[in-house]
Amino acid sequence: MDHFLYRDGVLYAEDVPVAEIAAQVGTPFYVYSSATLLRHFRLFDEALAGMDHLVCFAMKSLSNQAILHLLAEAGAGMDVVSGGEYARAVAAGVPSDRIVFSGVGKTRIEMRQALQGGIRQFNVESEPEMHALSAVAVELGKIAPITIRVNPDVDAKTHAKIATGKSENKFGVPISRAREVYALAASLPGLEVIGIDVHIGSQLTDLAPFEAAYLKVAELTEQLRADGHTIKRLDLGGGLGIPYQQINEAPPSPQDYGALIKRTVGHLGCEIEIEPGRLISGNAGLMVSKVIYVKDGADRQFLIIDGAMNDLIRPAMYDAHHDIVPVVQPAPGADQATYDIVGPICESGDTFAKGRSMAQVGPDDLVAFRSAGAYGAVMASEYNSRPLIPEVLVHRDQFAVIRARPTFDEMIARDIIPVWV
Ligand SMILES: *Cc1c(COP(=O)(O)O)cnc(C)c1O
Repeated sequence: MDHFLYRDGVLYAEDVPVAEIAAQVGTPFYVYSSATLLRHFRLFDEALAGMDHLVCFAMKSLSNQAILHLLAEAGAGMDVVSGGEYARAVAAGVPSDRIVFSGVGKTRIEMRQALQGGIRQFNVESEPEMHALSAVAVELGKIAPITIRVNPDVDAKTHAKIATGKSENKFGVPISRAREVYALAASLPGLEVIGIDVHIGSQLTDLAPFEAAYLKVAELTEQLRADGHTIKRLDLGGGLGIPYQQINEAPPSPQDYGALIKRTVGHLGCEIEIEPGRLISGNAGLMVSKVIYVKDGADRQFLIIDGAMNDLIRPAMYDAHHDIVPVVQPAPGADQATYDIVGPICESGDTFAKGRSMAQVGPDDLVAFRSAGAYGAVMASEYNSRPLIPEVLVHRDQFAVIRARPTFDEMIARDIIPVWV
C-alpha cells in the first residue's frame, strides 16, 4: 500500500495533487511520501518485535538528507556502503552506533573516517580487508567491531545484476571457508568479532532463498561458537522485493519475513539486524514527467517524455518495469493506446517501456512512474547535460523541495578550465 492515489479524478501524493507540485517545481521530478516511508520502516520494526533488533535502512536506495532524518527520527539505523554515505548519515543526525558499514571495497580512508566518527560495526568481506582494517584500527588505538559477510552460495532467483549470494559473485567469503576466516579475524589485534553478516541479493520475491541462507547462518553460528567466537549479532541483509506491477504481483510481506527470521535464527539469542532498502523506499516515490510529443513511427507510436534514462536508469540497466500512469485519472471507458515510452536521449536504451498499453495521453500531459523511490534519484546522472532532477517530500497536505534542480549555470560552474587551455 502507498499514498499515491487518485482522488476526484487526479493523482495525489498524500493530500497534495501531483499536478500542483509539477506546476511549482517543473518536470521531471521525484516525489516521496513520508507516510509511506515511515509505514514501511515500521512494518519491519514490528515484524521483528520480541527480538532484540535494529532496522538499518540501506541508504544507497535513497539517500537525501530529509529522508535519512525522517527515518532516523523514527528509530532507523543506516547501512552505508561508502565514505560519502557515512558522511551523509552523520550529517542527517544518525547516531554513529546505529551506522553499519557494508561493501566489498572499503578503503583505508573510509575505515579511518568511520573508526574516528564512530561505527556500530563493519561488515567485512575478505581477508585482505580484515588485515587492512586491523592495521588502521591499531594505528588509531581503536578496536573495530566486525561481522564477516559470508557467501552462502544460495541462488536468490533475481536479476543477475543484483544477485549477490552465489559463489561466483564478488561478495563475502565462501561459507565453506568461514571457520578459517573467523580464526584469522580472532588473531588480528585491531578487530573484535561480534557476529555474522549475509546479504544474498535484491528484489527477492520469494522467501525460500532467505530461508536457505538463514538456516546456513544458524548452523554456522553454532559452529563458530563451538570454536570459541562470540557471535552475538546477526546481520541478515536486505533484499525483500516489492510489487512493481500493481496487478499480479504479491511478494512476501515484512511480517512473513519477520516470522521467517524468528523461525530460522530466533533461538540463537542473537541481536538481529536487517538492511532493507527497496522495500522501505521503492513504493514511497514517483517520478513525474511530462509528455513532449506523441510520434508516429512506422509500426508503433512513441510517447516522448521529458524524463530520460539519466533520471531513472532502472529500465535501461535492469530491464525493470515501472507502472506508468496518467496524472489525470482516465475516465471509465477512455480510449486506450499502445506506446513505446521513451526519453529524449540519443540512445535506443533510453526506453522506459515497449508496447505499453495505457490510457491515451497527449502533449503536456503529466505521467507518473510508480515505484520509483528506490534506486531512482540516487542513480541519476547529468548525461546529455540534463541537470539532476529535483526531489520533493510530501507530508499530508504539505510539500517541500528537498533537493532543488541545479540551474544550467550551477551545473557548468562545477567545471574548471585550466589557465593553460
Ligand atoms: C543493496 C544492499 C542492501 C539493500 O538491498 P534492498 O534490495 O534495497 O533491500 C542491503 N545490504 C547490502 C549489503 C546491500 O548491498
